[in-house]
Amino acid sequence: MENNKNYQKLLEKELEAIKNSGKKPKLLIHACCGPCFTIPYEIIKDYFDITILYNNSNIYPKEEHDRRFNELKKYLSDIDANITVIPTTYDNEKYNLDLEPRASDKEGHERCRICFKKRLKEGFEYAYKNGFDYFGTVMTISRYKNAQDINKIGESLQKDYPTVKWLYADFKKNDGYEKSLIIIKEHEMYFQEYCGCKYSYEAYQNKHKND
Ligand code: SF4
Repeated sequence: MENNKNYQKLLEKELEAIKNSGKKPKLLIHACCGPCFTIPYEIIKDYFDITILYNNSNIYPKEEHDRRFNELKKYLSDIDANITVIPTTYDNEKYNLDLEPRASDKEGHERCRICFKKRLKEGFEYAYKNGFDYFGTVMTISRYKNAQDINKIGESLQKDYPTVKWLYADFKKNDGYEKSLIIIKEHEMYFQEYCGCKYSYEAYQNKHKND
């Protein structure tokens, strides 16, 4: 069996190389909510000129999508981070056409790989068309998201966008997830109870129907 790679070590190497270059490259980073942006931002903020892409048509319902978006913007304002956030058009019905065939998958399986790929591809496209040097995502901070899957998808998409470098990362390493919980508490942030899509929403509701 193939050994898991430590993608956070690759990130650390990349950050060191950027520091030594004396340059501040342009990074487009996909973010899905405020809580997941916390620690990734702390790690990368000194190295990049950062723009956030909020392309999360997976999130259901729309009120939840908007709530997470607003929470992200509120967090940026709380910490005085002067970062542009680019939202894309929300279309959950269209998005789900690709997820529906794997509707019954449990979280962490093929449906999620399809979901990662859709949003990462959109991100690469945007980064490529708009002259970004790097593209990455904060999603690896989540304990429920497989960093091996996410980085392999990013690495493979990179081949189609030769001017944009995939930013390897596994932000949950080095207690990243636990550290993010402290910031979430400090800022009294809204922290969602399910991943995002209607399938994860329904699974969450079923699990808690007798609470
Ligand atoms: S559980 Fe999360 S990652 Fe998986 S398909 Fe749903 S929204 Fe996407």
